[in-house]
Amino acid sequence: MPQRPIYLDCHATTPLDDRVLKAMLPYFTEHFGNPSSINHVYGWEAEAAVKQARQLLAAAIHATPEEIIFTSGATEANNLALKGVAEAYFQKGRHIITVETEHSAVLDPCQYLRSLGFEVTLLPVQSDGLIDLAQLEQAFRPETILVSVMAANNEIGVLQPLAEIGRLCRDRQVLFHTDAAQAIGKIPLDVEAMKFDLMSMTAHKVYGPKGIGALYVRRRNPRVRLSPQLHGGGHERGMRSGTLYPPQIVGFARAVELALAEQATETKRLNQLRQQLWQQLSQLDGIHLNGHPTQRLPGNLNISVEGVDGAALLLGLQPIMAVSSGSACSSATTAPSHVLTALGHSEQLAYASIRFGIGRFNTADEIDKVAQHAIATIQSLRKQATLV
Ligand SMILES: *Cc1c(COP(=O)(O)O)cnc(C)c1O
Repeated sequence: MPQRPIYLDCHATTPLDDRVLKAMLPYFTEHFGNPSSINHVYGWEAEAAVKQARQLLAAAIHATPEEIIFTSGATEANNLALKGVAEAYFQKGRHIITVETEHSAVLDPCQYLRSLGFEVTLLPVQSDGLIDLAQLEQAFRPETILVSVMAANNEIGVLQPLAEIGRLCRDRQVLFHTDAAQAIGKIPLDVEAMKFDLMSMTAHKVYGPKGIGALYVRRRNPRVRLSPQLHGGGHERGMRSGTLYPPQIVGFARAVELALAEQATETKRLNQLRQQLWQQLSQLDGIHLNGHPTQRLPGNLNISVEGVDGAALLLGLQPIMAVSSGSACSSATTAPSHVLTALGHSEQLAYASIRFGIGRFNTADEIDKVAQHAIATIQSLRKQATLV
């Protein structure tokens, strides 16, 4: 059996931590009850586990348990936030502000809302991937109801100035939503300090299971109204019907609990590994770092490589490392990444890009191996190019 490539695609998904799996297992088997069953112990056990998980997740972001609405992941949470606010507030206004570099799970619902008559302003980003706060200020209109800006970008890892954005929104009584799929557990998130009114989360980017996430929905100062997108049994305070999934919910909470407990040491370790990778790769000419050099997720390194074909580069790297080029989520298409083109890159440079997502289980030895192989691959492709 050939060895599998080193996994460095932690922005696409992360491996499930064994400690998370251990917490989940009893809720598949002996504690299989429906948390909505109020007449017997099976339901009570499941309900107790969900309650504890909800408390833990709420505490992790300085929210209250009632403000956590479980969903199938961040895609659903984003859809609920954007469409739910649009439907509940359209009489107040029909203007939404978001950013060019958002995930498609924000951009596509916004596009859909446009087709219903909403107006959407897409803010550009600066060459470092961060928005310009002055441009945001200018984009507000009397009819603006919502601003949606992601916490951490899934391609270039940049961290937007959330507290400043929150302040601008709160001053104007405009709701602020953030897609924190990449940020939860990795950077401190505080719904009070950052003035979030809605925040999307997911478990599978933080060593938890796939298929579970949540939307934080503020209940006080202001109380956010939301039009449900799934109607049915009235679960989750009527905002999201459907039987809760205790194993996933327990796993989600355990994953966030572990990430928070280890955040300080893990941030330091991942920063070192990223630095180690960048120091080796940047010895080559024509390697560009995409995104702000320090305002970014610790495990993210995104580079563009001059003088090589993007597809050939990825093919050459594949036997040794599992990485992504462009956007993982749109890798079925051959279009260059909308995030890299938003930075002002030429199409060719946006194509020849690699996203390294370093995570909890990567080691310094792996990073050395990856760096050496990437350097050899780039050198060999450049040599071939000059021979043609
Ligand atoms: C992964 C991701 C999503 C989608 O989350 P799912 O839980 O897989 O639906 C949304 N936004 C960002 C920024 C992501 O990285």
